[in-house]
Amino acid sequence: MARTYASVNEAWRELRNARNRAHEENYRTPQAHHGYDPDQPRVPKGHSDGGQWTDTGGGENTSEISSDATPDNEWRPGSRYAQTRGRGSVPVRIGNRWFEAEGGQAVRLAAAQARQHNAIARVRELEPNWRPKPSAHETVEGLIRTYEGEARQAETRLAELASVGVCPGPFAAGSIPARGPERNFTTLERAGVNRFGYETGCHTCGTNDPGTRSGNFILDHQPPNALNRLSRDQRLFPHCLTCSLRQGGWISNRGSSR
Ligand SMILES: [Zn+2]
Repeated sequence: MARTYASVNEAWRELRNARNRAHEENYRTPQAHHGYDPDQPRVPKGHSDGGQWTDTGGGENTSEISSDATPDNEWRPGSRYAQTRGRGSVPVRIGNRWFEAEGGQAVRLAAAQARQHNAIARVRELEPNWRPKPSAHETVEGLIRTYEGEARQAETRLAELASVGVCPGPFAAGSIPARGPERNFTTLERAGVNRFGYETGCHTCGTNDPGTRSGNFILDHQPPNALNRLSRDQRLFPHCLTCSLRQGGWISNRGSSR
């Protein structure tokens, strides 16, 4: 179990890091962002704190949170993370007003925002048009609740997607690397996926019975070919016939409803 989830999480982590790097690049452009001082010292890239602001000693935190949780605001890859350093306060814009998030509140806000951002990014990799239900907020605490609520919606959606087999399911344990999207599996690959299937079950429903006439598990590409827009390296997980058919039905319904 740990291994496959770890590999999936690692992929997401890489995606997030890439976004963070892109986001750092955005900050280098001279567009006037609130509180951004291009001359402020930075830790050199390559250092573990690379690209982040260093403490100027003034005690004022110049980093910014801008809410991408507001109903009329599209999520975008370069959207900002709250970067709380030390004990300073963080300016937060809600509607047309600025608030100060202090200390622990700023930390909770950053955590809620990161959780929301990460969960929505994971859903949107499978469903690019997915969005949480909009909700209004007028205070920093309200914004934190909005982020948490949107993260929960996205996490619920991820669980639904896992239940129809379009992402690694709760029983995903062992998998093998796919050579490509094709289904020209070798005897060795079939045997490898069968072994995981007999030991730990279908990755979506957990059954040890593949339900096929041949007694073989179906080798399931994850991410599924039809949803692999980012051309991620795919892996092969054991699928039972029922879950494989459900996955196929979900993908083709989705295709025809677009
Ligand atoms: Zn199954």
